[in-house]
Amino acid sequence: KSEINSAVSKEELGRATWTFLHTLAAQFPDQPTKQQQRDVKELMAILTRIYPCKDCADHFKDVLRAHPVDAKSGEALAQWMCRVHNVVNRSIGKSQFPCNRVDLRWGAMNCDEGACDLHGRFYK
Ligand code: FAD
Repeated sequence: KSEINSAVSKEELGRATWTFLHTLAAQFPDQPTKQQQRDVKELMAILTRIYPCKDCADHFKDVLRAHPVDAKSGEALAQWMCRVHNVVNRSIGKSQFPCNRVDLRWGAMNCDEGACDLHGRFYK
């Protein structure tokens, strides 16, 4: 696709957002602070208000109501993210992702340019 005519589709936006959310969950601390737990909940609540696909945002609000955010640990958040992504998958006719494999799909970040994870670790 041309860089100049680059309107973003709902699908591209979704893929990019899920990449962000699963990557965030994979880097989330084992023992998050209360503030970090609040931040994740707030981020999800914000998505239900300003995610730039109104139908998706409205639907995600219902999903969150039925599946409250579990951010008590990194593992809990990664599993929760997988579950809610599967709820969205189901609602749009996509197949279920096996959540016991989520760590394989969304693991540590590739930080070779000196970008780093939440803890400021470098990977070389
Ligand atoms: P995506 O669903 O974008 O997934 C990207 C990759 O994540 C997959 O290739 C797979 O490797 C991996 N993956 C898939 N499922 C899981 C899982 N459960 N856990 C971990 N990894 C997984 N689209 C609509 O049409 N209607 C909606 O209501 C809607 N709501 C959305 C709400 C939110 C919050 C978001 C972020 C997106 C929403 N979308 C919605 C977009 C939709 O979820 C997809 O992103 C889009 O259809 C592109 O799908 P895809 O097949 O490329 O894979």
